[in-house]
Amino acid sequence: MIIVMATNATEKEADNVRDEIRQRGLTAHDNYGTQRVVIAVLGDVAPVRDVLMGKLSVMPGVESVTPISRPYKLTSRESHPEDTVIEVLGTKVGNGNLTIMAGPCSIEGRDMMLETAQAVAASGATILRGGAFKPRTSPYAFQGLGIEGLKYLAEASKLTGLPTITEVMEPSQVDVVAEHSDILQVGTRNMQNYSLLTAVGKAGKPVMLKRGYGATIEEWLMAAEYIVSSGNPHVILCERGIRTFETYTRNTLDLTAVPLLHHLTHLPVIVDPSHATGKRWLVKPMALAAVAAGADGIMVEVHPNPDQARSDGEQSLTFDQFADMASALNQIHEMVKTLNKDPFTMPGQVKVGGTSKH
Ligand code: PEP
Ligand code: MN
Repeated sequence: MIIVMATNATEKEADNVRDEIRQRGLTAHDNYGTQRVVIAVLGDVAPVRDVLMGKLSVMPGVESVTPISRPYKLTSRESHPEDTVIEVLGTKVGNGNLTIMAGPCSIEGRDMMLETAQAVAASGATILRGGAFKPRTSPYAFQGLGIEGLKYLAEASKLTGLPTITEVMEPSQVDVVAEHSDILQVGTRNMQNYSLLTAVGKAGKPVMLKRGYGATIEEWLMAAEYIVSSGNPHVILCERGIRTFETYTRNTLDLTAVPLLHHLTHLPVIVDPSHATGKRWLVKPMALAAVAAGADGIMVEVHPNPDQARSDGEQSLTFDQFADMASALNQIHEMVKTLNKDPFTMPGQVKVGGTSKH
C-alpha cells in the first residue's frame, strides 16, 4: 500500500501516518526519489488492508492511499512511477542516458587492466568492469586476483575518471569491494542469495543485480526487493540470458525482459550480451538489439588479447571490436530515443507469474 501525502502536508501529519502504520506491526518506508512524501507500507498487509486503508485515507495531509497489487512493493512502478536514476561519479544510469560498461571478464594483472581501461574509455565506455572475485563453474579454473585485482580496478578508475563495477560473492566481501568499487555486482549464481542481498542492501553503494539463469522476472524483482527493503534504493537490473534447451549459445538472451521490466519497475535495465551468447561475433548484434528494445545500457567483456584470456575469452571483444560496437550503439540510441519511448505507459496490465505456459 502506498500513501501519497499532499504537497502542503506537514511533517507532523506524515509522522502520524507512519505511527498509524507501525501500531499495526507494519513498516512505514519512505519512498525516495519522488517529488513529495510517499510512504510505502511493508509487511503482511493483507489481514488489515481494508481497515487500514479506511483509516489512513481520512487522515489529515493524506492525498491518496493505493494498494499495490504486485508482490514486490518498493521495486514496482505502481509504488514509484518515476524512473530511478543512479548517479555514480557524475555518470547517470537511467533517464535516457546510454550506459556502456566494459572491461575484462577477470582482472588478470595491473598492465592488462590499465591498458583495457584506457582503450575502452577512449572509445565510449562510461563504466569500467573487471572481475576480482570470480564465480567459476570449476574449482580448478582461475578464481580471480581478489583484493589485488580490486586495487588495479581502483587505479584504472583514477587513470580514466570512470566509475567501476565488480562482483561481490559473499557478505564477508561486501566491505572491501565497496571500499574499492563504485558499483557492486551480484552475479547470476547469487541472485537468490538472500544474506548477500541484505548485505549489499546496507552497503551504501549502488548494486547491479544480474538475473539468475533460472529465474523468472518476478523472482528477480523479489530479489531486488530484498536490496531495496534493506535500505538501498540504488539498484540496476541486468539481463544476462537464461538457460533454455538451446546449446548454440551459452544462454538465451531474453530481450522481452527489457520492455517488460520498464513496465513493471522503475529501476534501470542493462543487458549483458557477452554472458548471454558466449560468442564474440554475437555480442554486437545483441547489444544493438538490446538498446533498440529500450535498455538503459549494456555490459560487455573486452580483452587486449581475447585468445589468451584466463576466463571467457571466446565472448570477449578486442579493443577495435569494442570501439566499432560502441559507435554503433550510440547511433541506435539516438534513433531509439524518438522511436521507442514510454513502453511502460502501454494500456492494460501485464500478466506475470501464475500462468501456465509451455
Ligand atoms: C560477470 O559478469 O563477470 C559474470 C560472472 O556474469 P554472470 O554472473 O552473469 O555469469
Ligand atoms: Mn565473464
